[in-house]
Amino acid sequence: MNWFYAVGQQQQGPVTEEQLQALVKDRVVTGDTKVWREGMADWQPYSVVSGGAAGTVLCAECGKAFSADEVVRFGDRSICAACQPTFAQRMQAGAVTTGAPDYATFGSRFGAKMLDGLILMVVNVGLGVVVGMATESREQKPVVIVIVMALMVLVQLLINFSYGIFFLGKFGATPGKMACKIKVVRPDGSPLGYGRACGRVFAEMLSGMICYIGYIMAGFDEEKRSLHDRICDTRVIKKG
Ligand SMILES: [Zn+2]
Repeated sequence: MNWFYAVGQQQQGPVTEEQLQALVKDRVVTGDTKVWREGMADWQPYSVVSGGAAGTVLCAECGKAFSADEVVRFGDRSICAACQPTFAQRMQAGAVTTGAPDYATFGSRFGAKMLDGLILMVVNVGLGVVVGMATESREQKPVVIVIVMALMVLVQLLINFSYGIFFLGKFGATPGKMACKIKVVRPDGSPLGYGRACGRVFAEMLSGMICYIGYIMAGFDEEKRSLHDRICDTRVIKKG
């Protein structure tokens, strides 16, 4: 007997009973997921199909439906009484994680920041040297030198901003963060995209302006959020 299930507006399947169970374990199918198979008059929430009422929770181990007070929460998983001993054993053995992300330590974030700072310093100083040599060699008027310098500062600012926006938007991590094996994600683990990356780069300026208190906040937050993480609703996690 093959099952179909709905993800958003899209119908998925057919899958076998076993595959459906596996999807429940992977939390692709939850109690609220609409499912259907031949012989059913209408699509039903999976919790109803698996024997519970609407709104019941599914055990992440056996996939059966239970009321909320019959299960124990482990991170983002609900486990029924029957499955708790085996689940606890597997968790102790390190076979399962509770779903709470592994947030990046303050130290690794600091290291990443230093590396990025170093990279940008080399680029900016390099640019300064090139521009300096170019203007010097032609004995320019002072006003020309001032304009060139102002333009250079503008270009350097642009480089600093684009560096963060490009790398965070495209990879979720600047080269410094990549080297420290950390990355920036949304609370659900999804990528932040260019728009939010841009917002985060500017929010980070704020963290720096208030004597770096915005950065230090990450050390005291249980989700290790800096001020710019709070503003942009992002988290910094350890990569894989
Ligand atoms: Zn169970």
